[in-house]
Amino acid sequence: MSSDAPVAVSNFIRSIIDADLASGKHRSIVTRFPPEPNGYLHIGHAKSICLNFGLAQDYHGKCNLRFDDTNPEKESEEYAQSIQEDVQWLGFQWDGEVRWASDYFEQLYQFAVELINKGLAYVDDLTPEQMREHRGTLTLPGKNSPYRDRSVTENLDLFTRMRHGEFADGSRVLRAKIDMASPNINLRDPAIYRIRRAHHIRTGDKWCIYPMYDYTHCISDALEGITHSICTLEFEDHRRLYESVLDNNTIPCNPRHYQFSRLELHYTITSKRKLLQLVNEKHVSGWDDPRMPTISGMRRRGYTPEGIREFAKRIGVSKSDNTVDMAVLEAAIRDDLETRALRVMAIIKPLKVTITNFDGAQSREAGFHPNHPEFGSRVVPFGRELFIEADDFAEVPPAGWQRLTLGGEVRLRYSYVMRCEEAVKDATGKIIELRCSIDHKTLGKNPEGRKVKGVIHFLSCEHALPAEIRLYDRLFTVPEPDSDREVDFCTYLNPASLTVVQGWVESCVKDAQPETRYQFERLGYFCTDRRDHQPGKKLVFNRTVTLKDSWAKEQG
Ligand code: ATP
Ligand code: MG
Repeated sequence: MSSDAPVAVSNFIRSIIDADLASGKHRSIVTRFPPEPNGYLHIGHAKSICLNFGLAQDYHGKCNLRFDDTNPEKESEEYAQSIQEDVQWLGFQWDGEVRWASDYFEQLYQFAVELINKGLAYVDDLTPEQMREHRGTLTLPGKNSPYRDRSVTENLDLFTRMRHGEFADGSRVLRAKIDMASPNINLRDPAIYRIRRAHHIRTGDKWCIYPMYDYTHCISDALEGITHSICTLEFEDHRRLYESVLDNNTIPCNPRHYQFSRLELHYTITSKRKLLQLVNEKHVSGWDDPRMPTISGMRRRGYTPEGIREFAKRIGVSKSDNTVDMAVLEAAIRDDLETRALRVMAIIKPLKVTITNFDGAQSREAGFHPNHPEFGSRVVPFGRELFIEADDFAEVPPAGWQRLTLGGEVRLRYSYVMRCEEAVKDATGKIIELRCSIDHKTLGKNPEGRKVKGVIHFLSCEHALPAEIRLYDRLFTVPEPDSDREVDFCTYLNPASLTVVQGWVESCVKDAQPETRYQFERLGYFCTDRRDHQPGKKLVFNRTVTLKDSWAKEQG
């Protein structure tokens, strides 16, 4: 599937880049991915990563990884590490060293001084409350602060003293002097520096003033020579501010700012803040819980980088709403796994079968993939006692049933045709064992004089290995858990999102390393757990995705 897709589907950003290269405006492009290290990356970020790094790859340009580390209280080294790991795991490499907005703190400070000298920034003493009152609304213009017309000398003095820690946190800010009556609220003298005594992961306690995101972002882009600065649509209203800061200082570069729509995925959430809440309140086992839409969660679940990149390609890049059903992501993963996962058998819900005429039965060899003989093969052992999937037997079968029933026959995958003679029940009437016979003439051959349609998978009890198998369902019970501001999205957590069963697997997977992917025939794609699986000792599999789109079916 992925190999047939066009190399690059065009979009409006590509058209802009094509035009910029054709007109000679740029000779090559430089993009950046600018996460804040305040949480683990999620599927929305994967879209942005594929876009920014993908453009750089396709146009033989460069893409920087730059941490927007301007909010010290919320940021950590753990987050910064995980982000680097996620970007590389997705298959991308940034240009040169990792960059940090904090590397530019001194330059950012000097540019602020430059703005003050030009009369374009001032220190404001209004309280946050008063500042809100002065800001106005969407329909009413704001009012000038009484401190707006301070002299350059006074502003320089106050700003220097802000830096040197003479004022309390939150008591003053530096604001860009733009226009309190602008219809764009972002241009109503936005704060560009605030006082915050917080330990910073990179600069420690060196600074007690920190630049604001909008101010930092445009200057960082300019300092790095970014040509196309691509953000999500909520920054559209910030673009004028971005340009205004750059127009008014002496950095010799003018990156252009473009916006595309955020990815929203149904039945999950894409906000680091809310994902953090899930972790903190222990609704999940951690950021990399396989139910999380984080890159590390998807990785642990068994999603492939190729599958996620394919998903990004399929959803495209535009300015229109990008709310996507989970089924689109799962289809991309499934399509990728189909061609590369080895196929073996496993039993999730075992029902014991005793073969009454076992003597003389043989085992057969089977390939690991029908289209890839080079993946090799193994012997699928047969035995006197087997496990089959309990759901593959019905005492009173529904119409059209092709699996096992009393007196009926099925083909055991890679083995014999088997007839069920008797269902053994316990005192409560529950079926605990089947007694079956095989047709010895059907190993690798069709039975004589009749057709057997159903094929079920099985394991030989003697040879099967026990395994912990983790089955996942949607994390939330509604498509948009965070759409109602009045209701905590955790209300909609799906209590059945994780089911752990003790199952059985073929012994050929015994030494699989963590993060090995298999198709368990008829059950789905599975991946050995990155954390808990121990080769040869403790087998732990996560179900990555089912074989068919079972949700779409459920929904009719
Ligand atoms: P969150 O709200 O989850 O914290 P964010 O936008 O604050 O997301 P950043 O670390 O600032 O997170 O994001 C880094 C980059 O990823 C930004 O360029 C941002 O536009 C992009 N991004 C974040 N979420 C999405 C999304 N859902 N779809 C597409 N791009 C996204
Ligand atoms: Mg952000």
